[in-house]
Amino acid sequence: MDWLGKETIMADFRTHITVSTLAGAAYGATGYFTEFAPLPSCIVAGTLCSVAGMLPDLDSDNSTPVREMLSFGAAVVPMALFSRLQAAHLSHEELLCIGLAGYLAIRFGVGELLSRFTVHRGMFHSIPALLIAFTVTFMMCHIGTLEVRLFKAGGVALGFLTHLVLDEIWAVRWGILGPRTKKSFGTALKFFGQSSMANTAAYAVLLFVGLLAYQDLTHPVDMRTMVINSEDSLIDRISSAFQDEVTR
Ligand SMILES: [Zn+2]
Repeated sequence: MDWLGKETIMADFRTHITVSTLAGAAYGATGYFTEFAPLPSCIVAGTLCSVAGMLPDLDSDNSTPVREMLSFGAAVVPMALFSRLQAAHLSHEELLCIGLAGYLAIRFGVGELLSRFTVHRGMFHSIPALLIAFTVTFMMCHIGTLEVRLFKAGGVALGFLTHLVLDEIWAVRWGILGPRTKKSFGTALKFFGQSSMANTAAYAVLLFVGLLAYQDLTHPVDMRTMVINSEDSLIDRISSAFQDEVTR
């Protein structure tokens, strides 16, 4: 029996976190000793790898690891976005309010969405989900050189990959006649799942975050100009329209 209370059809939580932590330590150490990235970036990349080793199981309803991951994400994601928001010259209180809203949205809102819209071993366990996690991390870790950003996002991809590979390994059992596969074999390391709606949603999200990342690379948004004087930003158009209304 595993932590979901079901027969073990996949590597359990402890195996996942152990392997992804070891992979993360090796990944961070490699980055440091080859002088690819500074020490803090290597520690962040290694930690991200360790945590990402549990990410695909966010689709397991209401389990303790899911709650732990949501709490971790709720604390870390707003922090990671702070430097972007600071560039918009928000006050300390405004930043705190956004941080608190972000915490509540992730801790409770995301949990609710996950339990409603995901099925275990659906598209959360897939290569496109891995690429989405990679791309989102790349955008969140927006400080540093392109190489360092890719290095940190690569940590998440590696941790995610260890999870998918372990789930597939756990789906192979040795019988008297040699290896035999369980029903769950092939449901982790996949490009497409059984639900066409989930497939469409996964690839739509991948396309969306891919376009955002491309925009971020080619035309990085300067929050100051976006809020104050950009010609074509939506926020600017809304705020100037509002001001016209007020001055009229
Ligand atoms: Zn899994």
